[in-house]
Amino acid sequence: MRKDNPNITFDELYEKVNTYITDEKELKQLSSAYLFAYEKHFGQKRLTGEDYITHPLNVAYILAEINADSSTLCAALLHDTIEDCDVTEEELIDKFGKEIASLVNGVTKINKLKFTCDNEAVIANHRKILVGLCEDVRILILKLADRLHNMRTLWILSEKSQKENAKETLDILTPIAHRLGMNKIKSELEDLSLRYLKPDVYFSIVEKLNQTRKERDRIVNEMMEKVSELLNAHNIKHEIKGRAKSIYSIYKKLDKGKRFSDIYDLLALRVFVDSVEECYQCLGIIHSKYRPIPKRFKDYIAMPKTNMYQSLHTTVFGLEGYLFEIQIRTYEMDQVAEHGIASHWSYKEHGSNVKASMQSAMEQKLQFFREIMELKEEKNDELFVHNVQEEVLSNTIYVFTPKGDVIELPQGSTPIDFAYRVHSGVGDTMVGALVNGNIVSLDYQLNDGDIIKINTNKNSSGPSREWIDMAFTAQAKNKIKSFFNKIDKEENLKKGTEMLQKEVKKRKIPYAEFYSNDNIEKILDELKFNDMTDLHINIGNGKITPTQVINTIYNDAKSKQEMVLDRVINNDEKSVIVKGDIVVDNIDNIKINVASCCKPIPGDDIVGYISKGHGINVHRTTCPNIAELEERIIDVKWNTEIGKKYATNILITANENQNLLINIINKTSNSDITIQSINTINTSGRYMFDINLLVDNVERLDKFINDIYSISGVVNVERIIK
Ligand code: MN
Repeated sequence: MRKDNPNITFDELYEKVNTYITDEKELKQLSSAYLFAYEKHFGQKRLTGEDYITHPLNVAYILAEINADSSTLCAALLHDTIEDCDVTEEELIDKFGKEIASLVNGVTKINKLKFTCDNEAVIANHRKILVGLCEDVRILILKLADRLHNMRTLWILSEKSQKENAKETLDILTPIAHRLGMNKIKSELEDLSLRYLKPDVYFSIVEKLNQTRKERDRIVNEMMEKVSELLNAHNIKHEIKGRAKSIYSIYKKLDKGKRFSDIYDLLALRVFVDSVEECYQCLGIIHSKYRPIPKRFKDYIAMPKTNMYQSLHTTVFGLEGYLFEIQIRTYEMDQVAEHGIASHWSYKEHGSNVKASMQSAMEQKLQFFREIMELKEEKNDELFVHNVQEEVLSNTIYVFTPKGDVIELPQGSTPIDFAYRVHSGVGDTMVGALVNGNIVSLDYQLNDGDIIKINTNKNSSGPSREWIDMAFTAQAKNKIKSFFNKIDKEENLKKGTEMLQKEVKKRKIPYAEFYSNDNIEKILDELKFNDMTDLHINIGNGKITPTQVINTIYNDAKSKQEMVLDRVINNDEKSVIVKGDIVVDNIDNIKINVASCCKPIPGDDIVGYISKGHGINVHRTTCPNIAELEERIIDVKWNTEIGKKYATNILITANENQNLLINIINKTSNSDITIQSINTINTSGRYMFDINLLVDNVERLDKFINDIYSISGVVNVERIIK
């Protein structure tokens, strides 16, 4: 792989292209595209000091390395002429035809999008890219090549710009490269991004690799020879290469808590053969000599990854007890593994069919997220996985407001989802909907590209309860429910007011006496309610009984402490009963509950609270619910010999939502944490997830929390006390 070549010439490019394009007309067009770009960029310099034309030449060269077609190569040479040289699209159409002009125009359009950290903008732009790229996947490949060359010359920019570019590359471009299967470009982009985002980490990995290189090279070479002899003895024509692991992939593993010495696929071989049968033969021969590690064998030939990747993977005990990861594949599979969708250029029949088959391959790919497929194997909670898939990964449609704004919705959405996505005010006052100018029923299923107009009426009495079933997205369902919660609140207010009055009457207390200002002040203060409305609502919904309220005035025995006590006991209702997990000094056979308010896990500082008739409730020392109950507190500690998992809650706040849930779930895969439920909390402009999970100790939880902070968009993660 050649890196940035500041002295690249057109002749070098031409020579490279000529190895796979021989059509005279196409080559001639390439030359004239070069001359045009050369002339237009003449006098312009890159920040690096080179003539500007070296950039389009390098971009075209990157594409020639993946055998790009001549239109894409011409577009690469011309890609900055609209942006930087005031060339018009008409001029390009005139000189080079519609196809090339529209490729250049497409790249110019997406290059104008800035992915700053400003949350909404990121999401909206991301969508626009996805919408835009559906026109022609080659625009996206061009963009990746353009970015790759810019990343190779990133050293020239300020540290701030370096970090911005690197972050954008990792956030937006490498996931796209991954989905398109373009692993070679993806991997170089990742390494370059890491180098600028976390230079310390990057260079420490490079250094460690260098320290161990000699020994690794020796052992890999020996192993290569042995395997080669073995395959020769069976008359299998093959090639073997050692495989360097990308720095970024090592970083990812270290980040997941692995130690450098534990990353055992550092020793890796790749065997290339001509046919699929030979792949399996090789595998058998290698396994007969070197013992495989049982769970590390993967047959991606019979079951390709969704980004088309095929190969056999196995890990064996190789020479001197070292573990070797061996990948076996055909040459054609290797093309696909390295270049993904771009391998259509090399292997599929040439002509206009190439474009069509690439396009359809890409469209398939956008529907799949490899991560979630793998997730399914690991998580036992099928329903949970199903919900996540449904919610986050279901096929996406793009629909438009009458003004042309793009709205992204999952397939299956209705005008109700659309209305609430635009604004809850629009949803709450909706009286009808038009799709592409026609009136539709509210359970009408929207299609990609629909233009939707929502008719509203300020005097509408609000949504109907049936809409909850008609809506597809959780967002719309929640907004409709919260509308009704408000109404229910009013009902509870009425009910609670009546219940309290009835109880006061039953106890034969005069109204005027009970509802005196002093009493009301005392009740609100002791029970911690803001006002009487608040109090009445909570009586109405059953959180507090009229008797408890009256007792604050007429029953001195029930003190403030008792009220807090009630609250703690109520909190503990759903707690897990444990035996033996927690040790209480000098006490045996006592019932112990883990408090459900603060949900302690092993490693937390804990105290026991002796509750009347409920045994001991164990809280975290920081739990505010025990602050006022000092005399009932006793020392308890975790029994360190028991390694059971406990439930606890964390609250994640993020300012963007793109793939967030999947990323969170992905972080659990290597950490032995089980997510039990996720409750999405709607707040304006932020995304909050209350996650209930099972974990065996605090170190693991802290590690997991750190992992979550590494997800783009996450602004806060904390354990919560309810
Ligand atoms: Mn460029």
